[in-house]
This record gives sequence, structure tokens and C-alpha cells, in this order.
Amino acid sequence: MRYLTRRSFLASAAALTAAPAVAAPRPAPAPEVPRSGWVDAVVVGAGAAGIAAGRRLAAAGKRFVVLEAAEDIGGRCITDTKIFGVPYDRGAHWIYAADINPLAKLAPQAGVEIYAAPPGQRMRIGRRYAREGEMEDFLASLVRANTAIADAARKSDVACTQALPKDLGEWRPTVEFVLGPYGCSKELAEVSTADLSRAGERDNSAFCRQGFGTLLAKLAASLPMLSATPVKSIESWSRARIEVDTPKGQFRTAAVILTVSTNVLTSGKIKMAPDLPKRHLEAATKLKLGSRDHVALELTGNPLGLRSDELVFERTESKQTAALFGNMSGSTICVIDVGGSFGRDLSAKGEAAMIDFAISWLGGLYGTDVKNAVKRRHATRWNNEPWVLGAISAAAPGAQSARKVLAEPISGRIFLAGEATHETRWGTVNGAWDSGERAADAVVKLLGGPSRRT
Ligand SMILES: Cc1cc2nc3c(=O)[nH]c(=O)nc-3n(C[C@H](O)[C@H](O)[C@H](O)COP(=O)(O)OP(=O)(O)OC[C@H]3O[C@@H](n4cnc5c(N)ncnc54)[C@H](O)[C@@H]3O)c2cc1C
Repeated sequence: MRYLTRRSFLASAAALTAAPAVAAPRPAPAPEVPRSGWVDAVVVGAGAAGIAAGRRLAAAGKRFVVLEAAEDIGGRCITDTKIFGVPYDRGAHWIYAADINPLAKLAPQAGVEIYAAPPGQRMRIGRRYAREGEMEDFLASLVRANTAIADAARKSDVACTQALPKDLGEWRPTVEFVLGPYGCSKELAEVSTADLSRAGERDNSAFCRQGFGTLLAKLAASLPMLSATPVKSIESWSRARIEVDTPKGQFRTAAVILTVSTNVLTSGKIKMAPDLPKRHLEAATKLKLGSRDHVALELTGNPLGLRSDELVFERTESKQTAALFGNMSGSTICVIDVGGSFGRDLSAKGEAAMIDFAISWLGGLYGTDVKNAVKRRHATRWNNEPWVLGAISAAAPGAQSARKVLAEPISGRIFLAGEATHETRWGTVNGAWDSGERAADAVVKLLGGPSRRT
């Protein structure tokens, strides 16, 4: 798995150095929003995949609607400004591979500022930072782990833990945390070597000063969208039309783009008639979401002495560890990330337990007086978000091919999209975005091509 490489650890090369000048965007014309009746296509879900699909359909001149169950749009990429009074990304924050990420390219037209992630990350060993030699040791272990996973994947698609070198020594639990719970929200024992080794590089990252979710919301502003409108059922008995039911009205359409997470898909929250094909159901089950959450603490006076947007791991001996992201975009917000089985159990105990863990973990690394500096606080609980139900879809051992299956159109008219359908950029906003565009292209083709030149 190449989420964090030697190169990215040492110096995440700055694809975007200085903050580009941000031009105020022209307000997009308010779209006409169909409330019911016939549309060319229905997009279910307004996360990254749904928004990308909607923009593609709009560009092709199609009459469509995007239906979103939640009050807010963005799905797992959403920015909150109320909790701390500054942008706080409750889900995705890193704009990976910013030099090729379509979202980064669209930022100027959305009127937001993108800046490069600072180079390098640090490692805490108890109350001190790792020395150069120790860091070298860790990086060498990480490289060996990645190489062993990729080598194993070429032979057969086993669990990542089976592939790990036996001699990772004292770095093993840390390597396992970085690649597993932190990197893909599951323990390495639950993750396919083929999936992890195919995952795209995540260096050259950038951040959006106004929040990644803000960028996504701005890109959705001109779409015909109904929020707080959960799709209850999708019926496709008739060859001529599909019926999509919501509590607010029924749509009839020729094509549906379904972008809900794999956990929502397998939850039965959307009634499909005929049923979701067994093939797709099994694929979604093998791509179930893991657990990853942010615990965000407002720490006044920079008691940890961190730079802006600094990422710190801990050399750990146990699964009860986390990653620390300091002073988000120059603010006083520090985010502690938990994930995997430990993160899942912690999140099940509730927000107070998550915050207690984060404060005591920081206390162990930086001194107990950290807790006196904590002002406002918040913890996400993605497993409990009713329209998402988890974090990221790392494939189970042996199940990398499930992504391709999940992306197969159903009856030639229902197209599944979303991060889980992307073969290499799964678990990312840009992967979800690509998948939405791909599904929309298929729908435009099905509808006989673009309706007008744009
Ligand atoms: C804690 C966390 C941190 C992450 N960090 C990063 C990161 O730094 N960088 C990165 O690139 N990625 C990150 N990710 C992953 C990234 O957020 C996701 O891969 C991406 O946002 C998924 O987009 P999507 O459109 O596939 O799905 P979603 O965002 O889940 O969108 C699906 C939408 O469908 C809606 N929906 C569900 N059911 C219905 C229904 N019945 N009717 C109508 N609408 C419905 C949902 O409300 C949701 O809005 C992170 C994820 C988490 C949880």
C-alpha cells in the first residue's frame, strides 16, 4: 500500500507552493429543480461522486435531479464552520496528488484557496520526537512492508498481515497502524494485499483553506438538487422507465446513478425492485466500510509546539494509538484520528469517551497539562451517520475484483458510482469524483449523447 511512502514522509513535494490568487467566482445561475415527474436521469447522493455526475450531466444538457438524504451536501467530504468558528473538515481533508487531482484544478473557479501540504511528518517516541536514525529505521520498515504487500499481491490476494515481513521488530505496530487503521480504516488482517498495493500514491497533497467540503459544496452550487430527500425505493420493472420514490415525490426516469456508500447499499435502506443483483450485493459486502474518525480539539496557545498542518505519529506498542494533525490551516484546531477496530470500539462508546482518549493520549505524548489548554472539542462518529455508516471501503482479502463487479451497470440503466467502485483511488474524494464522471458518461451515452453543445 502506498498511502505514505518514503518520499512523502521525507518531503511531500510541494506541487502547489504559493497560494494562488483567488478570483471571486461569478454566482452560478439558480438551476431549475424538478420536484417530481419525468427526468432524463436521477442521481442518488450528493457526495463527491454524485456532484461530479451531476456536473457531467449538466454539461451534456440533460434534465436531471440530484437527490440527497442529508440536510447538508458533501457526504463524507463536508466542512463545518459552526463548531469552532473556522473551517473544520469532518471527513476528507487531504487533497491527494494535487498535481493531478481534478478537484484541485477546479478550485480557482470555485473561488477557494488551495495550498501545498508542508513537507515531511514527525514521529513521537514517548515525550520526545524520533531522532534522524530512528526515523530512517521506521521509513525503511514502512518501505519493506509496502514492498512485501505488493510482492504477495502478485502471487495471491491474501490478507496484508500475512504478507508483512516478520522482522519489523518494534516498528511493526506503528507500520500496521499507518497502513491499516489510519490509511484505510481497517486492520491489515481485514484488507486485501491486491487492493492495498494498487491504491494510488497519496503524496503531493494540498489543502483547501476554506475546507475541502466547502470546495465540493461550491462545485455543487449550480446543480438541480434536493437535499433532505432520501430515496426510499428504486423500481425498474418496466423496460421503459425507472421509478424513484422519495417522501417528497416520485420521479420517473431512464437512468439512475446510485452513489451511496457500500454500507448504505447493503443496509436495505433503499428498497430495490427487482432486488439488487446478488453479484452486486456480494461485491458491496466485501467492500464494507471500515472505521475512522476525527477528534478535534481547540488548543489555545499552541501547547504542543506544532507547525501549521503538521502530521505526527506515535511509535506505539498497541492498537490504542492515533495520528495527530496539528493547527489545521493555521488555526488552533488539532485533530486526533482514530480508526480500525480500536477506533470502532471507541466510537461506539460515544463522543465523550473519544475526547477523553484523545486528551489522555496527547497528555502521554506531550505532558498532562495539555488538557488545561483544551477549549472547544468535537468528535465525528461516521459509523453512526445514518446515510454513510462508516469511513472507507478497503477490500477484504481476495476481494479486489469486487470493485469492478460493483461498477457493472444493472440492467443497463442503473449505474453504481462512489469511492468503492474505483479500482485504484478507492477511499478518496478524487476516486469518488472520477467514478461519478464515468457513470454520467455512460448515462449520456445511453441517452443518445449530449443534448446540446455547451
Ligand atoms: C474520517 C474520514 C477521513 C477521510 N479523509 C480523506 C482525505 O483526507 N482525502 C480524501 O480524498 N478522502 C478522504 N476520505 C474518504 C472520502 O471522504 C470518501 O472517499 C469520499 O468522500 C466518498 O464520496 P462518495 O461520493 O463515494 O460517497 P459519500 O460521500 O458517502 O456520498 C454518498 C451520498 O449519498 C447520500 N445518501 C445515502 N443514502 C441516500 C438515500 N437513500 N437517498 C439520497 N441520498 C443518500 C449520503 O448522504 C451521501 O451524501 C475520508 C473519509 C473519512 C470518513
